This record gives sequence, structure tokens and C-alpha cells, in this order.
Amino acid sequence: MALIVQKFGGTSVGSLERIENAAKKVAKAKEAGHDVVVVSSAMAGTTDRLINMAKQIQPVPNPRELDMLLATGEQQAIALFAMTLQKTGYKAVSLCGWQVPIITDDVHTKARIKEIHTKKIKELLAKGYIPIVAGFQGVTKDGEITTLGRGGSDTSAVALAAALKADVCEIYTDVDGIYTADPRIVPNARKIKKIAYEEMLELASLGAKVMQIRSVEFGSKYGVRIHVRSSFKDEEGSWIVPEEEIMEKVAVRGVTSSDKEVQFTVVKVPDQPGIAAKIFKALGDAHIAVDMIVQTVSVDGYTDMSFTVSETDAPHAKEIVEKIAKDIGAEKVLMDPNVAKISIVGLGMRSAYGVAGKMFEILAKHNINIKAISTSEIRISCLIDRKYTELAVRALHEAFIEDESINFVGNGT
Ligand code: ASP
Ligand code: MG
Repeated sequence: MALIVQKFGGTSVGSLERIENAAKKVAKAKEAGHDVVVVSSAMAGTTDRLINMAKQIQPVPNPRELDMLLATGEQQAIALFAMTLQKTGYKAVSLCGWQVPIITDDVHTKARIKEIHTKKIKELLAKGYIPIVAGFQGVTKDGEITTLGRGGSDTSAVALAAALKADVCEIYTDVDGIYTADPRIVPNARKIKKIAYEEMLELASLGAKVMQIRSVEFGSKYGVRIHVRSSFKDEEGSWIVPEEEIMEKVAVRGVTSSDKEVQFTVVKVPDQPGIAAKIFKALGDAHIAVDMIVQTVSVDGYTDMSFTVSETDAPHAKEIVEKIAKDIGAEKVLMDPNVAKISIVGLGMRSAYGVAGKMFEILAKHNINIKAISTSEIRISCLIDRKYTELAVRALHEAFIEDESINFVGNGT
């Protein structure tokens, strides 16, 4: 007998019929002898609709009141879910975040979970109940209702699974798993059977469409085994698990792209100690994360300094960098939004060689120029012209994932 947390996303509870379908998954696990805790999102479209209403009143809604409003979406879903299970003879009881309670900090609309009290849920389980917990919401220690940011029900579910030491956290969604690339770009993309937390975090732009990325961080921290699967099919989905559980450490697990970045270039910066510190310290002080830094070779005592920031931070970054450019006597600041970051990710990269070379070769073969490069132990990213995004992703997927004749993992092979 296992303890399973089953989380249902908005589309999986999008209508009464769908709630009935979700309830069947719960019933099936229960019939198999398992204890089940359900975490539900709001019915599809509900959260958006509530936000729109609030914005008609206040363009920037009061965060406390917005949380009060948004929490009602999940509250509706859990009550309907509990009724559906009761109708078929199961003992079910719905719980809001504050009733569990799930304690968060007091940062309204993007609160973080501080602790989860499991006593009540454990008592319910012991009495044969199926607790149906509202995702996305919590309560501060002062009793204020909070929400965890869009997509936050995933984090509620994984955190609850961690607190309850559940055997698995099943994420039921409208896709059937995590793919080696976005199937809309790469028709040959494959469903990944098992992926390590770390790989999943590096594939953030791919994964974030499926799960809130903070939930994977939670999973990683507490070793929660996560099973992402379709609520409309019965087949296995993708498992997100600790690295030790992965036998096959391939060099490239997935290929991903992000066009949410903007490249800045500070032209003709005096090549002196302290200049880079000045630029990046100011950006850091403004809470702007910088990626892909490139400094060109010094010519006549000057260099060009490039870096990328997220699209949302770009206007703020522009202001800051233009001011500093003036102070340090740089010639000008260029801003290029037509870029995309293409990444390949895989645990096997740690012990493989030739992967970067192969990546650059493939891009070169397609005449795609590399504007910047960044790497981690298990990821290589290249910044390219945005118009080549799909071409690059397809070419890299074909070479690294579809072509099985290439084997990079080898200590000297
Ligand atoms: N209902 C919330 C949202 O749409 C939370 C969730 O679905 O995970 O963001
Ligand atoms: Mg979601």
C-alpha cells in the first residue's frame, strides 16, 4: 500500500464531466489499496477570468484582495471534486489551504511555502477519507490567504507529497509527459521515460510549460518522485526522479529553445579593472538576472561587452546600462531582441566529450551564426538569430537524439 498525491490541473477539472473522469483515477488508486490525497487546480479559465475582473476595477489589483479572489477558484474545484467522489460512495473531504494548514510567507500573489501541517490530513487518511486539497493557496501565520504564483498547484502538490513522505506525486495534465523537444517544433520528439530533477530544471523552458518550475526544485530538494501523465489516457507518462535512479545517462536528454531573452552590447568600453563589476553589480542590485556574458578581445584599450537578460527585465536593464555606459565613457548601448537561446541538456554531458564541438558544427552546417555561448555542467546554450530557432532545434534534435549512431558517452571510446 502506497501513499499517492494526485494533482489535477485546470483542464483535468475543466468541466463536471472531467472532474468525474479525474475522480475515476482517484477511485482506481483507492481500489488498488492505496491512500490518496488529491490536489486540485481551479477549473480551466477560472483564474484568468478572475484576474480580468479584478483588473477592470484596479489596473494593478490590490495583492491581498487578489489572493482572496483567486483562492476561490480552487475552492470551487475541490468542493465539486469531493461531491463527485461522495456520489460514487467514497469518503472525501475538501480542504482549503488554511484548513490544512499550508503556511506561507506574506508575499501576496507569489508566496512561498514555509511549512505544511500534516496532522489533519493524516487523521483523515487514517479514517479512510480522501482529502481533496486546494492547490495554489496557503495562509500566512497571521491568517491571511495567499497564492503561490501562476501554476502554483504543482508546487502545492509536490510540497504536500514531500511533507507526507508520499511514495509518488502524480501530476495529471493535458499532455502525456515531458518530451525531448517541443513536439510542435519537432514532430519526431519522443516522450522521456525518466528524467533527473537537474535535467528538468535545465530544460526549464520546455518543462515550465508542463509544470511550475518551482515544484521541480521542491521535488529535487526533498526527493519527491514525480510522475507527469495525461488525465485523458491510461498510459505511463514521464518520471522526474533523483539522478541515482537513472541508468542511462545520455549526453543529450532534450533540446530546448527560449525566445524570451534580449541581448545588450555595450560598445567600446574602456578595458580597465572594475568596469564589468560596475555594470553587473548595478544590474544585480536591481534584481536583474544576467546570462550569457561575452567580452570581446581588447583593441586599442577598448572592448565590447555583451550579455542577455529576460525580456521582462529588458526595459529596466536598458535604463541602468545606458546610464553606466555614459559614466564609464562607453560609446553606445545596442539592444537586440531578435535572439533566441538554444540549449541541449543531459547528465551524460559530464563525462562525454565532443558534444560542444558537434553542436557548433551542426549550427555551422546550417549557416547559423553563434552570438554567445554559455554552459553548465549538463547544458550547452547558444544564442542565435531568432529566425533560425526552429531550424536549429530540429537539426540538433535530429543529430543528438534521433541519430542513435552517435555515442558521446565514453571514457576514451
Ligand atoms: N489556478 C492557478 C493558475 O491558473 C494555479 C494552477 O492552476 O496551478 O495559475
Ligand atoms: Mg498548471
